[in-house]
Amino acid sequence: MHISQKQLFLRYQAQTTAFPLLIEIERAEGCYLYDAHGKAYLDLISGIAVSNLGHGNKAVIEAIKNQADQYMHVMVYGEFVQSPQVRLARQLAALLPENLNCVYFVNSGSEATEGALKLAKRITGRSEIIAFEKAYHGSTHGALSLNSDEYFKNAYRPLLPGVRFLPYNQFEAISEITTQTACVILETVRGESGYATPDPGYLEAIRKRCYETGALLILDEIQCGMGRTGSLFAFEQYGLVPDILLLGKALGGGMPIGAFISSNERMAAMAGDPILGHITTFGGHPVVCAAALAALNELLSANLMVSIPAKENLFRKRLSHPLIKSISGKGLMLALEFSNFEINKAIIDGCIADGLITDWFLFAPQKMRIAPPLIITDEEIEKACEIILKNCFKFDSYKS
Ligand code: PMP
Repeated sequence: MHISQKQLFLRYQAQTTAFPLLIEIERAEGCYLYDAHGKAYLDLISGIAVSNLGHGNKAVIEAIKNQADQYMHVMVYGEFVQSPQVRLARQLAALLPENLNCVYFVNSGSEATEGALKLAKRITGRSEIIAFEKAYHGSTHGALSLNSDEYFKNAYRPLLPGVRFLPYNQFEAISEITTQTACVILETVRGESGYATPDPGYLEAIRKRCYETGALLILDEIQCGMGRTGSLFAFEQYGLVPDILLLGKALGGGMPIGAFISSNERMAAMAGDPILGHITTFGGHPVVCAAALAALNELLSANLMVSIPAKENLFRKRLSHPLIKSISGKGLMLALEFSNFEINKAIIDGCIADGLITDWFLFAPQKMRIAPPLIITDEEIEKACEIILKNCFKFDSYKS
């Protein structure tokens, strides 16, 4: 009896929900994914803000092959001098402000969050952590403790003590950051709450309060970093610098990586008394770092960020329909808001059937995600908008 790949996937792989998308991927190129039946899908979400250069970037693939030929894993992180790590760290430091000149490579965004929380505790000697309602920083125990949603975290208690949540974009609540606070962690442009931007002056006010109280400011740019909002790092557009920066997702050019970045002086705390403040076997894997460096150089040399405001405008201009209540976000990190999840889900399902991959947000089920590869062309944007609008009209006519 023939057992399909889908059946094997459902039988042998742990599932995350009862309703996986189940698209069987055969290959991917540029802004397109192809399934086992040869159907093409325009990728409007980049594997959740990962494939910023599109799929199958030649320079990234070549860097992976070259490094795999040279060496792969040789030692746990932090012992041997491995040129892909050194070159990537140096390049990141060169692109970042002076106080973000020291990089710790890990394997994922969640692990970057963990490392940053530990660093903040270590530096300040304090344990209170301030996070924001409906933020997402990862799924490990520490990162899950920063999730304000009881539905997701309650089954996993006890979690980290001393985590407090502030309502987002509410200036009055900033005074709750005190001299007890080790760190304040937030996304520069928010991801899973539905691509929300800070109100004018909000991030700056938090930055100021952190300076006043000695709390460290951690900006999570795991989703909004690496060019997605129109600048290499989103914080550059707000005229402030965090004490710790988190990167992940698109940093690896399609390979798994995370990083927490701070100053040399701060990072030194993780290496002394006790030593081994954070350790990882695979963090900074040479093949992954080689891919990440190639991806970073591609992003810079193709100057992809320059075209992002025009691409954002095109989406905003085209996506006008009575069902679309608002469009939030920045750059190629946009969210369409419908009145409720049912409408959003029906339109998303219609889009996928029509060969356009999109989805909703963890904390904003009424919003549709637009986070395509940054290489998306105007023609591809027009096509994506056409499919979305067609499904809006279809929903309207079906309902009336
Ligand atoms: N922070 C943000 C802002 C994210 O969007 C994510 C992933 N969606 C994470 C952290 C966690 O990253 P990972 O899934 O690589 O652990």
